Amino acid sequence: MKHLWLILFGASLCAAEPDWNSVEQRAVDFLQRYLRIRSINPPADTREAAALFRAELEKAGLTPRIYQTTPEGKTNLIVRLPGRDRSKKPLLLLNHFDVVPVDPKAWSVDPFGGIVKDGFVWGRGAMDMKGTGTMHLFALLTMKQTGVQPARDIVMLVTPDEETSGPDGVEAMIRDRWPEIEAEYVMDEGGFGSRDLFSPGKLVFGVAVGEKQVLWLRMRAKGIAAHGSQPIPENANMILLDAIGKALQLPASGRSNEAVEAMRRNLRGQIAENKFTSAIQRNTISLTTLTAGVGSPVKVNVIPSTSEATLDCRLLPGVNAAEFVSEMKARVNDPRVTIEQIVDPNDPGISRMDSPLFSALRAAILKFHPGATVTPILIPFGTDSVKLRKKGVTAYGFTPMVLDAATVATMHSDEERIPVAEFRKGLRIFYELLKSEF
Ligand SMILES: [Zn+2]
Repeated sequence: MKHLWLILFGASLCAAEPDWNSVEQRAVDFLQRYLRIRSINPPADTREAAALFRAELEKAGLTPRIYQTTPEGKTNLIVRLPGRDRSKKPLLLLNHFDVVPVDPKAWSVDPFGGIVKDGFVWGRGAMDMKGTGTMHLFALLTMKQTGVQPARDIVMLVTPDEETSGPDGVEAMIRDRWPEIEAEYVMDEGGFGSRDLFSPGKLVFGVAVGEKQVLWLRMRAKGIAAHGSQPIPENANMILLDAIGKALQLPASGRSNEAVEAMRRNLRGQIAENKFTSAIQRNTISLTTLTAGVGSPVKVNVIPSTSEATLDCRLLPGVNAAEFVSEMKARVNDPRVTIEQIVDPNDPGISRMDSPLFSALRAAILKFHPGATVTPILIPFGTDSVKLRKKGVTAYGFTPMVLDAATVATMHSDEERIPVAEFRKGLRIFYELLKSEF
């Protein structure tokens, strides 16, 4: 009898609070295995990654659905954990299987080794976005395993092609599977916590409520081909260089933005100075590619007749892209130079900052980081959230990890990694969020 009582008491204790040490360890192991899968985009064959998620979800008694959208293997996964109030629209946890390519020579470890070293998990995708995806997964699995029913349905969608703007991932799922999603809220990537990036010497968690518009331009200069031994003013490379110089002379934008204003208020004006905070306060242009030359390998003694560059422009929400381009053309003002739009920007505006989910998220963060500041922010890069905002979904981009500027800079770069301790804590913050009222 005493024995039975112990078993029952033990079981009810388990239902109340998960065995975090074991959950966290399983999550770290899973992330290591996930990082070993080369789900590089292109080609974004994410079948193996989807199978890894599926097995874990099915073990817990959940029923994931797999949607392969291209013959080459782009694969989506959707799973739902039913909540108490089925009349409320779900919270969507959105993450992606794909990662950007690597330059292995620039890494000190195997980028697909899933290695734990010096307190970090290393590997392409650790930050973007396999780490956060694993937290989503294990927060969800832990809810299911402990029998804690969320206030409303939780849906998780994992997509194969976020890194190439999501035509066969989030776009296809919104188009073809909307009844399985139809969320009121989405938690996606974007913001994070930092002691130095947002405000000097202050622990701040930035939750992305909006993002800058992505505008990609191709600039082409036409000149005259000639022998390199005799310089000419019609050298296409020189025409292009001159035009680029003028294009980059952006006038200061006087426009203020609600999300940045909220951030300024919450940080009492103490915004750190770095490339991230600079980028979210203004329109920016990066010169990303230069292409010219005749022959392969290129001839050093031939002046080419054409020369090309691409410009990655990021505009604040509310800025008119057509006006931005025509102002650039006016600055360049050279008939030998053309400027063409490669990608049309999207501007769904920013998500509301006063929702019950935002309050629940703030409370979940403060439980683990008392005294921290939680603020809405804008992010300089694009995410899949833009397409959900267009559908009217309130979207927040956030990973609940404290990261320093050097770690954040490894995203899409070399030596990508996340701190193990923050990963473990982040998983618990997500769990806290999923079991709150919102
Ligand atoms: Zn990403």
